Amino acid sequence: MTKVRFAPSPTGKLHVGNIRTALFNYLFARKAGGVFVLRIDDTDLERSTQAFEDGIRTDLNWLGLNWDETFKQSDRFDAYDAAAQKLKDAGLLYACYETGEELDRKRRLQMANSQPPVYDRSGLRLTDAEKAAFEAEGRKPHWRFKLSGNPISWTDLVRGPVTIETSSLSDPILIRGDGSYLYTLPSVVDDIDYKITDIIRGEDHTTNSGAQIEVFEALGGKVPNFGHQALLVGADGGKLSKRLGSMSMEDLRGEECIEAMAVNGLLARIGTSDPVEVFHDIDAILVDFSLDKLSRAPARFDPEELTRLNSKILHTTDYADIQIRLTEIDCDAGEQFWNAVRPNLEKLSDARAWSDLVKGPVTPIIEDAEFVAKAADMLPDGELDGDSWSAWTGAIKEATGRKGKQLFMPLRHALTGQQRGPEMAVLLPLIGHDKVQARLRGENA
Ligand code: GLU
Repeated sequence: MTKVRFAPSPTGKLHVGNIRTALFNYLFARKAGGVFVLRIDDTDLERSTQAFEDGIRTDLNWLGLNWDETFKQSDRFDAYDAAAQKLKDAGLLYACYETGEELDRKRRLQMANSQPPVYDRSGLRLTDAEKAAFEAEGRKPHWRFKLSGNPISWTDLVRGPVTIETSSLSDPILIRGDGSYLYTLPSVVDDIDYKITDIIRGEDHTTNSGAQIEVFEALGGKVPNFGHQALLVGADGGKLSKRLGSMSMEDLRGEECIEAMAVNGLLARIGTSDPVEVFHDIDAILVDFSLDKLSRAPARFDPEELTRLNSKILHTTDYADIQIRLTEIDCDAGEQFWNAVRPNLEKLSDARAWSDLVKGPVTPIIEDAEFVAKAADMLPDGELDGDSWSAWTGAIKEATGRKGKQLFMPLRHALTGQQRGPEMAVLLPLIGHDKVQARLRGENA
């Protein structure tokens, strides 16, 4: 049974890079009929907050990336303590007493001698008496995992064959001097206990995976498959700009008013061999999804492409599927209204201007009062409908001899107070007879 996890730390808001990882895990699980787990990596008790955790859950729900199981690392310290003890007993987790400054000095010296800045394993050679002396000085040990020094190889789900030379790595610190866990050990313990079959994450974790595979083996766990996707870069291939890199999901769904399926659709397709297309639901993305299609080159994230996709999605979204969203942003003015305005929308929030325009009050622009007054006299009586605009303007044309822009623009300006917008034929019945009359008379209505 395929089982994957998305494991954010609740020390900040989710941004597009994290979401891409979440999306790939979700799609991978669904494609295999497997299980998608949300793990909250909150071992850093000081920087993790409930608000960030709630935000992560809200974002994922909003995107439709629903998890089947969820848990928090802060509930599992007993399991991590037991695993650490097991490694200590096996002689694979050893105490070190260097201060940060001392380690820095060692590294600088190694570099000055053209040696790689790899930890020299002094901790491993300490006698009990030396350790006792450090402790008596008030030093607390941090704990390092003893790597084998052998090359570690796997077939990466994205990158193909990968080899990490553990001989060129420092033994990783698993437990800090204050007793807190770094991410490496808890993650492996959880992946073993929760029977995770595939770990899909960013390529910044590739080296880490080499060390973690050895921890899996040391704990007697089954080593999962790994897939490391390339990171996101900006549209020009350079580093994601600060603004975009830090653009949170909360901004995208709130202030930017972007649709969930624009985010999902774009992130699923950039950096793959498939084109960016309009999808109205996640199941449609699933059809062609495969990690095999991911390029090893970084994926370019272009916010303009996001906006373009967003507008294409809106243009083809049915009223029934958007009604809740329209209500959320307080601009639901019915199905006719939606069908009339959607071709003009880039973002859903653009609909607000049009719903305000229909509901009023609007300040008319009247350039030629005489013409507009004549038009007002000729407005058909009673309810206006889809045919009213052509009947009305046809009659005005006959009476005044005006046509084209000369005929339509003054009416649009008077009725909407704007230079352009949705088709007047559709707008007219939405505004309604009384408001049309009032606006033609120059009243705010
Ligand atoms: N909390 C880790 C991170 O956000 C999880 C990495 C992983 O998926 O193993 O980088």
